[in-house]
Amino acid sequence: MERDLNGQHEDRQQPEKLSGRVLIAEDNPSNQMLVKILLEKMGMEVTLVADGCEAVKLVDCGAFDLILMDMQMPIMNGYEATRLLREKGIDVPIIALTANAMKGDKEKCLEAGCNGYLSKPLQKELFRKMLSKYLVKTEESNDCDDTVCDEETDVSLNDSAAMTSNISSDAELQPVIAVFMEELPQLMAQITDACQELDFELLKGLAHQLKGASGSAGFMALSKYVGNVEVMMANEDIEKTKNAIDELGKFCKKVVETQNS
Ligand code: MN
Repeated sequence: MERDLNGQHEDRQQPEKLSGRVLIAEDNPSNQMLVKILLEKMGMEVTLVADGCEAVKLVDCGAFDLILMDMQMPIMNGYEATRLLREKGIDVPIIALTANAMKGDKEKCLEAGCNGYLSKPLQKELFRKMLSKYLVKTEESNDCDDTVCDEETDVSLNDSAAMTSNISSDAELQPVIAVFMEELPQLMAQITDACQELDFELLKGLAHQLKGASGSAGFMALSKYVGNVEVMMANEDIEKTKNAIDELGKFCKKVVETQNS
C-alpha cells in the first residue's frame, strides 16, 4: 500500500481549497509542522498550541471552525481537553489525532466528544477528506473514508532506502524533515538516559514521541521499528529493553547519516 504523503500524484489534480480557522493542539514539533503545512496549503488559518490546557484557554476566547486534537499531550491530554470543552457547551468540531491505531481507540475519542478520528502519521488524502466534512469549501464534497491503513515495513540497517523519508521528494514538506532531524538527536539522548535510569514510564512516553515524529517526517521504517520497541518494552524486561534501545540508537544514527549523505 502506497502512502500518499510523497505527493507524487498530488500535483496532477488541483487540491481542494478550504477556508476557516483551525486550532491545532499537538505537542510534537514534527507533527505540528506537518499539520501546519498541510492546512496552510489548503488555505486555512492555523493556530498552534502544545497541550490541552492551552487549547481550552484559547477556545474560550477565540472563534475556531475546527480543532485538531492530539490525544497524547503533556499537562492535559486530548481526551480531558475535549471533555472539558464539551462540558463548557463548546460545539466546535474536534478531530482526534492519535498514533495508537488500536482497537477501541476511535470509540474512546468519540466518547470523549470528538466528531472524527484520524490516526498518525496522517495521510494527505484522508486528512483532506476529513477536513472537507467540517470546513467551507469551493468544490464538491467527498465522503469520508477514515479507515486506518497499516503499512508493513521490513526493517534492515543495511537498507538505505528504508532509512530515507518517503516525503523527501515533496518540496513543501521539507520543513517537516528539517524539524525532525533537529529533534531526533535530543530525543535519542533522552531515550538513552531514560534507559540507563530504567525509567520505563519516561521511556515509553519518549518512544511514543519518536514513533509519531518519525512517522510524520516520513521515516516509516524507523517509526515501525520504534513501534516494535514500544510493544517489547511493555513487559519492562531490563535486558531486552537495553538491547532494543541500543539497536534503536544505531537505527537513528543510520537515518542521520543517510540524510546527511
Ligand atoms: Mn502527542
